Amino acid sequence: MKKIVVLGGGISGYGSAILAKKKGFDVLLSDAGKIAPRYRARLDEWKVPYEEGGHTEERILAAAEVIKSPGIPETAPIVRRIRAAGIPVISEMEFAGRYLGRAKCICITGSNGKTTTTSLIYRIMRDAGLNVALGGNIGESFAWSVATGDYDWYVLELSSFQLDGMYRFRAHVGVLMNITPDHLDRYDHCFQNYVDSKMRIVRNMTSRDFFVYSGDDPVIAEQLPKYDLRMRQLPFMARSAVASAAGDAFLCDGVFTASVGDASVEIDTAKMRIGGLHNAYNAMAAALATLAAGVDPERIRQSICDFAPVEHRLEPAGEKEGVLWINDSKATNVDSVWYALESMKRPVVWIAGGTDKGNDYGPLKEFARRKVHTLVCMGLDNAKLVREFTGVVPEVISADSLDSAMRAARAAARPGDAVLLSPACASFDLFANYENRGELFKKWVAEHL
Ligand code: ADP
Repeated sequence: MKKIVVLGGGISGYGSAILAKKKGFDVLLSDAGKIAPRYRARLDEWKVPYEEGGHTEERILAAAEVIKSPGIPETAPIVRRIRAAGIPVISEMEFAGRYLGRAKCICITGSNGKTTTTSLIYRIMRDAGLNVALGGNIGESFAWSVATGDYDWYVLELSSFQLDGMYRFRAHVGVLMNITPDHLDRYDHCFQNYVDSKMRIVRNMTSRDFFVYSGDDPVIAEQLPKYDLRMRQLPFMARSAVASAAGDAFLCDGVFTASVGDASVEIDTAKMRIGGLHNAYNAMAAALATLAAGVDPERIRQSICDFAPVEHRLEPAGEKEGVLWINDSKATNVDSVWYALESMKRPVVWIAGGTDKGNDYGPLKEFARRKVHTLVCMGLDNAKLVREFTGVVPEVISADSLDSAMRAARAAARPGDAVLLSPACASFDLFANYENRGELFKKWVAEHL
């Protein structure tokens, strides 16, 4: 029996292990840390052998193939040993993709907008009555859905780490939102390595498939000529004019039209519940992907207009005394904050900061100058933010806890303002993760106002 080792016992790992077991492999799941009790319970239920708190090297090196969870870096000693032994290392997507049967995949990647666009596409497909599963970086894992369900469609959010372990996997509809610097610590601080990883979305796509991508993104435009693209191309744009015979989406004066073949849908972005240019891009991408999947245009329009912001993405957290509090805790890089500031229609008290990932704040300064009257820096080390924005924003305040940042923001905000938490940084100096940061923000607003 072929031996398969699954590295990592998180959501992706236990799903892969259960699928491998179901398909009759001799499987072992191995985690260097602790496996959450709820995942252990599922492994027990499916009688999957596992180890935690360390890796038994001889068992791992006996594997014919290793499925590596996306959170484990290439530099982990066990991964280096597996590589040195010449054992193939694949991602959960590659593995589960082998058992798709006749089902089809819509795969979404990019530096920003993945979760929003994936959720939006899933919502449209579900509202249209299709038999669809959500997976990848959100919800249950893809492998778990393949093991336990029988779906016609999978809508998958793919991180660059998942794309790295994909070789023969093919997206029937691939969506590439944008490519801007992120996660460079995992790519030898080389932007091109990260770009190459994102571009893997187009691998194996055939003339029957569709590629939805940003026609406005300069990095994507530069990459496309390097690839032999046979699939039908569907660019979405607000600024450029990229021609494609298969279809496209274009935003003009707040209204966009998305067309694929003979089917088309027109949407007034003012009627959508999610705002800002970035969400117009997300909606255009979702409209193209679902038109390509054959969904009725009127249903697409309805579902897009009804779609509410995903938690922690420009999520309104309450309006008190004329001040609107907005939780954009998921904005952990400069580009996502650019779109947050772009979408602000009120004067802004901006709360930013945390663990800086080597950010270049330059692109934010124009919006900061025009829209922000107070910047509250919230982090253990605010020196860089304070230095960058002093003289750009009239008032810059340094705070080293959520409570002190929120008090400063409340004192600075005037009726008609927005207080925007959009950090541009990771959360790990003061919080467990971005969700925890966003939840505490909302809790403070609910309790104090
Ligand atoms: P991802 O899953 O790629 O991190 P999310 O949908 O979770 O994307 O959004 C992450 C952050 O980026 C949020 O702050 C959100 O407001 C912002 N954002 C969403 N869509 C886009 C986009 N198309 N371009 C730039 N920023 C975006």
